[in-house]
Amino acid sequence: MVASPIEIQSRLERVLLKVQKPGRYVGGEYNEVVKDWDSVQTHVALVFPDIYDIGLPNLGLAILYEVINQRPDALAERAYCPWTDMETEMRQAGIAMYSLESKHDICNFDILGFSLPYETLYTNTLNFLDLSGIPLFSSQRTVGDPLVIAGGHAAFNPEPMAPFIDAFVIGEGEEAMQEIVTAHQAWKAAGASRKDLLLRLAKIWGVYIPSFYEPYYNPDGTVSEIVKLEESAPDKVAKRLVAHLPPPPTHFLVPNVDVVHNRIAVEIMRGCTRGCRFCHAGMITRPVRERPIPEIVETIQQSLDNTGFEEVALLSLSSSDYTKIGELVDAVSARFVGKHLTISLPSLRIETASAELFEKLKGARQGGFTLAPEAATERMRNIINKPVSTEQLMETIRAIYSRGWSTIKLYFMIGHPAETLEDVQAIADLCKAVLREGRKILGNRATLHAGVSTFVPKPHTPFQWVPCDTVDQILAKQQLLKRALSGPGLKLNWTEPQDTLLEAWLSRGDRRMAQVVYAAWKHGARFDAWQEEDHYQDWMAAFAENNLDPEFYTHRRRFLDEVFPWEHLNIGVTKKFLTQDYTWSLEGKTRLDCRQKCFACGILPGFAELRRQNPGEVWKCPEVSRGRVNVLLPA
Ligand code: SF4
Repeated sequence: MVASPIEIQSRLERVLLKVQKPGRYVGGEYNEVVKDWDSVQTHVALVFPDIYDIGLPNLGLAILYEVINQRPDALAERAYCPWTDMETEMRQAGIAMYSLESKHDICNFDILGFSLPYETLYTNTLNFLDLSGIPLFSSQRTVGDPLVIAGGHAAFNPEPMAPFIDAFVIGEGEEAMQEIVTAHQAWKAAGASRKDLLLRLAKIWGVYIPSFYEPYYNPDGTVSEIVKLEESAPDKVAKRLVAHLPPPPTHFLVPNVDVVHNRIAVEIMRGCTRGCRFCHAGMITRPVRERPIPEIVETIQQSLDNTGFEEVALLSLSSSDYTKIGELVDAVSARFVGKHLTISLPSLRIETASAELFEKLKGARQGGFTLAPEAATERMRNIINKPVSTEQLMETIRAIYSRGWSTIKLYFMIGHPAETLEDVQAIADLCKAVLREGRKILGNRATLHAGVSTFVPKPHTPFQWVPCDTVDQILAKQQLLKRALSGPGLKLNWTEPQDTLLEAWLSRGDRRMAQVVYAAWKHGARFDAWQEEDHYQDWMAAFAENNLDPEFYTHRRRFLDEVFPWEHLNIGVTKKFLTQDYTWSLEGKTRLDCRQKCFACGILPGFAELRRQNPGEVWKCPEVSRGRVNVLLPA
């Protein structure tokens, strides 16, 4: 039974003192938006399906929160997953999921929007729906249930969540979300069926309705074809793209309890032209669009005034590729240095200029220095298309240590295609060489942290065809690193092999994986991204019950012409380009940054009209001539 906000509030008061960090569950943060429920037409619940501490700083959700709340006819409120202690209390006390702002039951909202930046949130998403009293399967929802939508980077392969989500937003959500709200209002006014709502949504650029498509399989288990079931749905769903980065949020929520990032986040650039072959974000967020310097500086100023935060992160996939990064850093330093503000510039390239950039921020309090060579041999760096010479890396390291940073973090991945144990040994050797350089400069103060994750092949990347390492291979490589990378000044972090496998099953899973996700959740899987929660056996049982072999998704090499479960989505970058890049990787051939030379990845023919309407420096792709045809966008 649906409870009123007053009933929810009173039930909460009875349970909150029994759980860890009750502040996660009460809302009331500075900058929270509470609108009059009855005076708006559309009520949207934005959900980050992990705990508050992780979800509150999420920039994607912050953007949508401001975008929707700027409309006079709609409101957006928030919800996060309760940690296991709170879930137990909520179930015992009969408290369904509610929004933090007005304490309305989630099932009272018109639209429920999940943010899915990574795949290990899937069981939490089911748990959230269950705790909300909303049918888990889209096919079981009726006209009175909320519309359940999802977006984020994981949604670029939506198939493992296809039966649970009514509509996915593939790509950038700022404009698509507005159109979804408007379409929902028109549908509500028409008093039409739920199917009618989905048909309306299917006309919105970037919206994918999974129930309008059906996959078929070959006897060997691979996908044979994906059949469109609704005439009016697009043959291929084109990802959504904004030509200009919309105004950034400036009213960040100020949490009452500790969260992972207590800071202002300003997106300085979207997209990346580097072409690292393992990088999902680099492929799906093309083209590069930059935010002008005055807008960034003004956003920081307004956000500081609105929040009182003392840290700002200038976010992008590769900060030093921002065209005028030197000028940006000068402008930020000039305006804010000396104001007790920590300025972080993550994702810097491996070049001495990166250390110089940080130098310019002298006077500001600075965060740590992190570089991501990803591999330690030049052969391997060529395979993954991150061609940096070891000499250049060492030069940068010397520049960083000699400017006074005592700790350097280096990120690597094991499990790249064609990797040998020699390549892994080289990671250890390189880390030790880096520390030796640091100690020459700073003595025993110099330290090195090596973060070594395991590569998971992702959809829509040049490595979407390659198998993952097996558990035995991963363990052998990790053992080698653990033996070699111990001693004073050295710290090593790694990913547990079972976590890697889970990410790999879900990343390249087809629609049959949805039954595995459902069964794993029924067995108790949730918080799969958390070390504290080990549900590996639940996942194995879920595969067995559904007669699916987990190795089919992880350790199998795909043929070049295999039909992928995400083949009916079009991210702009073409399969032809990805195939060529994959074959180049096998030959150790690298590509330049495509700002230097366009390699015709597919973005320009795909979004030709948009590019033509937005000439000049808006995108970092070449201009489009009149004669080119737009093949992607819906009419
Ligand atoms: S169209 Fe050319 S410049 Fe633009 S992202 Fe693709 S390869 Fe790079």
